[in-house]
Amino acid sequence: TLFLDRIQAANPALNAFITVDRDGALAAARAADERIAAGQAGPLTGIPLAHKDLFCTEGVLTTCGSRMLANFVSPYDAHVVAQLKAAGAVCLGKTNMDEFAMGSSNENSWYGPARNPWNTAKVPGGSSGGSAAAVAARLAPIATGTDTGGSVRQPAALTGITGIKPTYGVVSRYGMIAYASSLDQGGAFAASAEDCAPLLSAMAGFDPRDSTSLERPAEDYARLLAAPAGDKPLAGLRIGLPREFFGPGMADDVRAAVEAALAHYRALGAITVDVDLPNARLAIPAYYVIAPAEASSNLSRFDGVRYGHRAAEYGDLNDMYCKSRAEGFGEEVKRRILVGTYVLSHGYYDAYYLQAQKLRRLIAEDFRAAFAQCDLIAGPTSPTTAWGIGEKTDDPVQMYLSDIYTIAVNLAGLPGLSQPCGFGADGLPVGLQLIGDYFSEASLLNAAHRYQ
Ligand code: GLN
Repeated sequence: TLFLDRIQAANPALNAFITVDRDGALAAARAADERIAAGQAGPLTGIPLAHKDLFCTEGVLTTCGSRMLANFVSPYDAHVVAQLKAAGAVCLGKTNMDEFAMGSSNENSWYGPARNPWNTAKVPGGSSGGSAAAVAARLAPIATGTDTGGSVRQPAALTGITGIKPTYGVVSRYGMIAYASSLDQGGAFAASAEDCAPLLSAMAGFDPRDSTSLERPAEDYARLLAAPAGDKPLAGLRIGLPREFFGPGMADDVRAAVEAALAHYRALGAITVDVDLPNARLAIPAYYVIAPAEASSNLSRFDGVRYGHRAAEYGDLNDMYCKSRAEGFGEEVKRRILVGTYVLSHGYYDAYYLQAQKLRRLIAEDFRAAFAQCDLIAGPTSPTTAWGIGEKTDDPVQMYLSDIYTIAVNLAGLPGLSQPCGFGADGLPVGLQLIGDYFSEASLLNAAHRYQ
């Protein structure tokens, strides 16, 4: 009950949880006690956790931060949820998020913004803002999130915790409500890389119900963490610094914290090399064509017929669709559906969607070339520390630009991690982003672990 009591005390101020499942948590905790007593405990048995509210949970609300799903109780568990249940983890509840994971500040939630525990006038980042706020405020030791364009790494950075998004295809998307399917990937939040590792190990693994799930043997992502540290635990590690990530877009205080972290890495034995990602600047335009295109298609299923919001009054069937969607979706979701249907429409498809797919390939090739020269890539996670609630809500383009360092990773399908690396001039946390080649999650976690 320690965490449940903490949630009860702190959640009114933070709005990190949409649903708290007290009874379910207590029952799961009792079952975990029995497993522990029977000597059948694994690393997560009895560990409390929170799920982002787009992972379907049988018998518990799954709202996706939307009015559209305000009454939706899934009849089944997402793969990730089932895996964590099987591991004996205790689900405390479901966390706040931008509606359908569209946003960078958690302000697009139908349930109101989650708040940053370091300063409740600031955003916690998004879209997995509730999970990040919950872990940062120690309302849960670990939490799940999803990262389509940065939604695990960026809120981790803004709240001073560790967040990892694995290689695309490592975590099954079954039962994870879809935003942009070719980019969506589940990820893990914890106070440290060491605590992220067992969570990610439990989330990952092949699942035939997701056609993009990769058929690879299960991995223990903590396997490198136990090696003796010594004086220079990262001796010989080549960290690539993309010139494009250190340009004028970054705030001075973020730059200072990132530079200090790199100096610390050099002290641990790593060497830094300059690399180029010449097409990285095209990541935002490519993403904001591809993601809305996929979203417009994915969200067409919300028609008010079988589940989800249905307008109370309507004329014919078409009117029912229109009114239900008009009422159920928020402004940002509607904006993306409109952009998405536009870029996919006849006559514009070649000009926008096809071009964006070509940029995506160029960006992936940039990373491939960079990884010929280095083992990991480092840079800032977010160009600034957490901003004020309301500060960017009138200007969607400003909001989209805050994803500048995270999005290329999703377009390339690479793993990425954000770890705390100090504080800005305002006393708010700064995140260092580490990007690895495909399937380098264990090395990323090790690099973050050695730093802490
Ligand atoms: N901020 C980005 C968006 O709004 C990324 C969100 C995400 O990763 N889910 O699309």
